[in-house]
Amino acid sequence: MSRNHSQIYRSILVCVLVFGGSLFAESVGIYQSSPNSNVVFRKVKSDRWGILNKHTHEDTLFDRALDQAVARMSLEEKIGQMTQIDLGVIAAGEPCALKQPVQIDAEKLRTAIEKYHVGSILNVGCGSGELSVEEWKRIISQIKKAEIAASKLKNPNNNNGSKSGSSNPYTHIPIFYGIDAIHGANYTTGATLFPQQIAQAATWDPDMVKMAAAATAKEVRASGLDWNFSPVVDLARQSLWSRYFETFGEDVYLNQILVKSMISGYQGANGLNFMNTSKQIDSDAVAACLKHFLGYGMPLSGKDRTPAWIPERELREYYLPGFQKAIEQGAMTLMINSGEINGTPVHINYDILTQLLRKELNFQGIAVTDWEDIYKLHHTHKVASSLSEAVKLAINAGVDMSMTPNDYQFTEILIELVKNGEVPMSRINESVKRILRVKHKAGIYLDPESQVVFNVFDYLDFNQSNSVNSTTTQQSNLGVTSTDKNIPQKNKENSSSEPISLRVIGSEEHKKLALSIAEDAITLLKNEQQVLPLKKDQQIILFGDAAHNMNLLNGAWTHTWQGDDEKYRISKNPETPTLFQALSQQHSEVICLCDSISGKSDSVAFKNQRFGSKKYWKNLDKIIKSNTVAVLSLGEKPGTEIPGNINDLNLELTESNKQLLDYFKRKNIPIVLILNTGRPRIVTSLVEQSDAVIQAYLSGDFGGKAIANTLLGKNNPSGKLPYTYPRSAGDIVHYDHKHTEKNDTKFGKTAYNPLFDFGYGLSYSEFKYEKLSVIAQKLPRSIRDTAVVEIKSSSSEKSVPLDDVENGQLTRNWEIYGYTVDIDITNTGKVAGRDVIQVYLSDEFASITPSVKRLIAFEKTSVIQPGETQYYRLFFDLEQLSFINKDLKRVVEKGEFTISVNQLNQKIYFPENIEIQ
Ligand code: BGC
Repeated sequence: MSRNHSQIYRSILVCVLVFGGSLFAESVGIYQSSPNSNVVFRKVKSDRWGILNKHTHEDTLFDRALDQAVARMSLEEKIGQMTQIDLGVIAAGEPCALKQPVQIDAEKLRTAIEKYHVGSILNVGCGSGELSVEEWKRIISQIKKAEIAASKLKNPNNNNGSKSGSSNPYTHIPIFYGIDAIHGANYTTGATLFPQQIAQAATWDPDMVKMAAAATAKEVRASGLDWNFSPVVDLARQSLWSRYFETFGEDVYLNQILVKSMISGYQGANGLNFMNTSKQIDSDAVAACLKHFLGYGMPLSGKDRTPAWIPERELREYYLPGFQKAIEQGAMTLMINSGEINGTPVHINYDILTQLLRKELNFQGIAVTDWEDIYKLHHTHKVASSLSEAVKLAINAGVDMSMTPNDYQFTEILIELVKNGEVPMSRINESVKRILRVKHKAGIYLDPESQVVFNVFDYLDFNQSNSVNSTTTQQSNLGVTSTDKNIPQKNKENSSSEPISLRVIGSEEHKKLALSIAEDAITLLKNEQQVLPLKKDQQIILFGDAAHNMNLLNGAWTHTWQGDDEKYRISKNPETPTLFQALSQQHSEVICLCDSISGKSDSVAFKNQRFGSKKYWKNLDKIIKSNTVAVLSLGEKPGTEIPGNINDLNLELTESNKQLLDYFKRKNIPIVLILNTGRPRIVTSLVEQSDAVIQAYLSGDFGGKAIANTLLGKNNPSGKLPYTYPRSAGDIVHYDHKHTEKNDTKFGKTAYNPLFDFGYGLSYSEFKYEKLSVIAQKLPRSIRDTAVVEIKSSSSEKSVPLDDVENGQLTRNWEIYGYTVDIDITNTGKVAGRDVIQVYLSDEFASITPSVKRLIAFEKTSVIQPGETQYYRLFFDLEQLSFINKDLKRVVEKGEFTISVNQLNQKIYFPENIEIQ
């Protein structure tokens, strides 16, 4: 992707000149001592919560209207809003064993809406399987009709929601439908399946991540659903964990930037300021849900939902920043960690759910439990001696909505607890207000008293438009004729009432995007003797369990919860081929020993030949040529959560794959290893035996094509590892380890010796980095995130240093917000390619042992032609020099820092101690 930010940069410079001084004046507080030490810290205000705190007069009025709406509700209605049930509860059959095809049971639906007033429904019946768009349409419109019926029941004068003059035309608050569309709308048949989050992280391309999220939002919304349980914000620091592939990897900063991009993609431009009530998200956007607050990704044992031990300093340093950025970005909801931290299940942790989340982070959205987690406080965690105590503890800790999800025990118990005074009504009102706020922002609800018609009727229109390309809408339903002009109304200019075309599902545009992301993620880890790309006339012999298997390319959350249904192993759609099919589509000589495990082979030459028989090997002897290359494509058994637990990090070969690998080694045939894995498994010996290694991650429906394109040289790999590849299972050290964390038996300086480092990835071209220059700047707030980058026209166009820089160092009167990093990059190879500029920081000395290095800025370059030089300017802000000290404060301590890019580095000096508030 090409981009040119020079325009942006010019305006930034203007901002710097005009506003720089005044911004600084605002941001610096007084000198003050830290309470627990004699170090003096100057306090610098971060504008972190600036956006959230900016309330307009309209917002205040809206806030009041929400309070009034809550006050009008009965206790049962309020607690209904706090209840989330699975689709199974309103469908024919048992909740987790639905009759197929899924049929809504009208009586169960009426009970959910009229008796329990449920606020939210999720899922597809315990993750049982995808539904066609027609099925979704049928289900959603049945739900909406039942809501309207309930509304009429309460208010017989209601004239179908149109402006009838009734003071309260529609009384039922619409249901918020949540789904796990974590790499595309994976529960909608025919939807685009993007690479999983870990693969998206390997692109190091925030724009791509945002585009994939926006496309997913469109497909989810076209399925009639409003709320996506994504992104996973958990940091992947425990490679045994079954949900590693659902994350953006091990690094704090990469995670922050990509999480932010994903949220902008899901919620769209109008969804970025959550507290701005005058703008609702667009009709093709969805509410995002941050998972799983907080510390879920680091179970000590590696097994899902087992205890984590994380001191508060580490919690704040590593696990919190992703959530902080996401909340700043306007994320509307979050889901709570099912596990425990330091002995306390997070679902009852007041300090985390209220003190930290609400008071410190100022989060005003919905905190929903994870699956059955309130009941589990009693059944599994054993911290509550009854279900009633479990509900009380969780709600009083700050939970807003309970994913019950298979019954109404929660609902009934909570009503009793409020009646008995064990849960205060104020706690309930607070949660219901948050839920209404989110529903409003999501465009599905506006305060009834304001006379604004609900978006619910759009679904009726959606239901009536059987034609796939219908985008018509009932204009009458858009009529915003509030009697109280002061209450903010649905923004007319955003088309949030217009039903989205169903054509977006699996559209050409989305498929192309999914392929580009899969290609951009591919990370070349080894390429000896330039084995890759393969030559046109080379014979390819393919083997390994992922050679001809879509489930292994997609992983869990694909068509079904665990993504392992045999039915989807080979796609019926030629556009989403397995690797074998994709290679065969483009290359003349491809043989697949695909089913060697079961003794069958898909290749004609091996038909009916038992694997391992003498005839089999003889046949292979006859087939191989002088130019044969063997491609071994390995995968992990799809799985997530507890069913996805593994006991061993080693990626073991099956007996047949081992024999084939030995055979090709004996014959001196070059081996290309493809790792379709969602985490760093231990592959050291396999890598040693291979001539080339490609990390393809879980690349989704277009992964087969993307890998084939890379093998054949149609894609020049540019992915970089979003995690560190350990050499041995007992030597798991992250790239941002401490100086003492080296596997050092000889006190050597180079003892940190992973198989492949975080950020590593080769290309078919080579890149040379030159002229690193790091300069302190008064950067305006608008670019305080380092994702802003500029491609300069030449390296002579330098950043202007500050007045208070002497001999390249800051003087005592510094007035900065950040630094510019200038770098030249030249493609010295023979083919065009892209690289990722990675800027690392080493804090030389600090009161908390500093990391050897950590990422503070990055940029994926445009395509650089052979011989071409591009000139980049990246930014990083003051916060990037900071860490959490022993008093749990975010501080920058004075002293020397080394900034490195590739092999180049430059020292900077920061002249005093500051606390970033
Ligand atoms: C998972 C969540 C998911 C939820 C709803 C839970 O078991 O932990 O990540 O969003 O189910 O399907």
